[in-house]
Amino acid sequence: MTCQPDLIFDIGSHKGEDTDFYLKKAFKVVAFEANPKLIAHCKTRFADAIADRRLRIVEGAIAPEAAGERIVFYANLQASVWGTIGASWAERNRTLGTQSVRVEVERVDIVEAFRTYGVPFYLKIDIEGADCVVLEGLRQLEGRPRYISIEAEKVDFARLVAELRRSGVPFRVRHFESKIDFAGLRENVIVNCTGYGAKAIMNDNNLIARRGHLVVLKKTLHKQFYFFSGGCWNGRIMYVFCRQNDIVVGGTVQRGNESEAVTESDRAVFERILSNAQAMFDGRVVDCVTA
Ligand SMILES: Cc1cc2nc3c(=O)[nH]c(=O)nc-3n(C[C@H](O)[C@H](O)[C@H](O)COP(=O)(O)OP(=O)(O)OC[C@H]3O[C@@H](n4cnc5c(N)ncnc54)[C@H](O)[C@@H]3O)c2cc1C
Repeated sequence: MTCQPDLIFDIGSHKGEDTDFYLKKAFKVVAFEANPKLIAHCKTRFADAIADRRLRIVEGAIAPEAAGERIVFYANLQASVWGTIGASWAERNRTLGTQSVRVEVERVDIVEAFRTYGVPFYLKIDIEGADCVVLEGLRQLEGRPRYISIEAEKVDFARLVAELRRSGVPFRVRHFESKIDFAGLRENVIVNCTGYGAKAIMNDNNLIARRGHLVVLKKTLHKQFYFFSGGCWNGRIMYVFCRQNDIVVGGTVQRGNESEAVTESDRAVFERILSNAQAMFDGRVVDCVTA
């Protein structure tokens, strides 16, 4: 089954924002959506394209076969883009201050859909926690889309790697001594994302190191998602980022310092950054010192 050059799958079509763009680019579109209200909206919005058979809307929730033929879909009342079949995702959305209603919908078998409509040139997947069901489905086919766009939990790199590995994406760890090593690669597209390492590989002396100090704290409550930057009122350095699994406190920049070693003077900087954060959150901003 080869990919059809004029076909796009819009999986998780929401209000048709992407579908509209694809149709205007003269592609045929198969749009997948589970939320009955959004489906009704798109049927009205794209009545002409549906009548012309340029757009087909597949109604229901993509889920694995084991989930049964009727699926509970959590339609989000405040953020319609957060509709999901995942109970844990609905719970996450609740902790972020939104409410969902449970709607029972038909299950859509994605492998059957590929067999019915064909393998698209471009496959967009954005279905809140069920994205990998589509990737798993692809593995049962011989043909592959030319391009895939998928939403991943980029905030959690380990989970992203695990998802990609499960979907058959190989990871090879390699060290590149110089750009001559690139010539030995079989791949015909190379993204050079070696960061500061590019200085040595590309012999680029215009690249200047900027070294900083970070203190990583344990996140004690799921609701810690604040962000603070700009230092204390007197301009002393410190920022706080709440990330998915931890809290990062930092703010120093040492231009031209490329050392990876942690020295005693670095330890003193870590202490100062931390005590600045404590002083600020205690309301003692005058106690902050220059890190
Ligand atoms: C302390 C600090 C705080 C920062 N805070 C922020 C922030 O708050 N917000 C923000 O947006 N940015 C921040 N940055 C900048 C941000 O981290 C970088 O811009 C970003 O990580 C660059 O991503 P990258 O993928 O290009 O490179 P990197 O994340 O540097 O990844 C490069 C990778 O290439 C590998 N590599 C290097 N040489 C070779 C080689 N020869 N062969 C094979 N592999 C190699 C390295 O091991 C590394 O894994 C901060 C940086 C620092 C140091």
